[in-house]
Amino acid sequence: MPAPDLPAIDYAALARSIKQWARELGFADTGISGVDLARDEQHLQQWLADGHHGEMDYMARHGAKRSRPQELEPGTQRVISVRMDYAPPDIGSAWSVIGNGELGYISRYTLGRDYHKLMRGRLQKLAERIRGEIGEFGHRAYVDSAPVLEKALARNAGLGWIGKHTVLIHRRAGSYFFLGELYTDLPLPVDVPATEHCGSCRRCIDICPTQAIVAPYRLDARRCISYLTIELKGNIPEELRKPMGNRIFGCDDCQLVCPWNKFAQQTEEPDFAPRHQLDGARLTELFGWSEDEFLRRTEGMAIRRTGYEGWLRNIAVALGNAPRSEPVLAALRARADHPSAVVREHVAWALQQHEASTVTGDER
Ligand code: SF4
Repeated sequence: MPAPDLPAIDYAALARSIKQWARELGFADTGISGVDLARDEQHLQQWLADGHHGEMDYMARHGAKRSRPQELEPGTQRVISVRMDYAPPDIGSAWSVIGNGELGYISRYTLGRDYHKLMRGRLQKLAERIRGEIGEFGHRAYVDSAPVLEKALARNAGLGWIGKHTVLIHRRAGSYFFLGELYTDLPLPVDVPATEHCGSCRRCIDICPTQAIVAPYRLDARRCISYLTIELKGNIPEELRKPMGNRIFGCDDCQLVCPWNKFAQQTEEPDFAPRHQLDGARLTELFGWSEDEFLRRTEGMAIRRTGYEGWLRNIAVALGNAPRSEPVLAALRARADHPSAVVREHVAWALQQHEASTVTGDER
């Protein structure tokens, strides 16, 4: 980031303009924070020391860069945080998919186009607008692309508070949104941090299928279905497979149950609309996809992150939890000799569940 060499600038007026330009670019909200994250750094260190990050080694890498923006990007004085809503119009129908064991549940944030590129491109455009106004300035745009404590920065910028489930919530926007950041060397006026409004509520803690929220504001990622279905490579711990139900990519239960999401804003971004009817597809159909089909149908979507092996592994678990039927058994048997040992192991587990249900007469 080059050293600033700027003429006299009315930073308060510039901050107002930045927020206006961000709205014009499709961001639902924008806030500005400083770079002090000392309290959050402690929280992060404790979380890592407890091993709650599981195999996400990247969370422990990069030293203090994650909690000290000026170490990631020297010269950074402020962070401009932006929000983009992703909730589809019928997000309430999520429960009916979760409740239907023949369907696969995919987290609502990943049903449309991958948000990373889209948001980063718009943050770059925002930076260009600023440059057009004041000339060259130091900046860098991030959307999950570097070690950034995005929720803490967004909270400090007034975009919401971090709930007991560790997701950011806004009183008038719920929690179904993506965050992005523009680090900058401009000494803009900062916004007032958001205050907390969880109160005595603990619905997210109680609903979590795998009890991954081990205490308020503390998530053991090793138990979280989002981690198990997306981040974890290899075998899913057996004791967590049944509670996964039919969730094959991510999990939204803690957000779906949050009372603040009655204020969630529907997305205005056509690119975030669900693709290929993935918001309620049959497990047997998804399990039948070849690798080519998987790659073709998930092109440009964040869902690709799990890889084909992970995709089959996750669906095998869901089929093990599905109501016993001939199509379910046939789909599993067809993959029993799959070249991947991980897929074979999960298929064998799934078939065992159905054998066990015949012996016990459990019709599920
Ligand atoms: S469900 Fe309740 S405790 Fe959890 S984040 Fe929402 S308001 Fe906070």
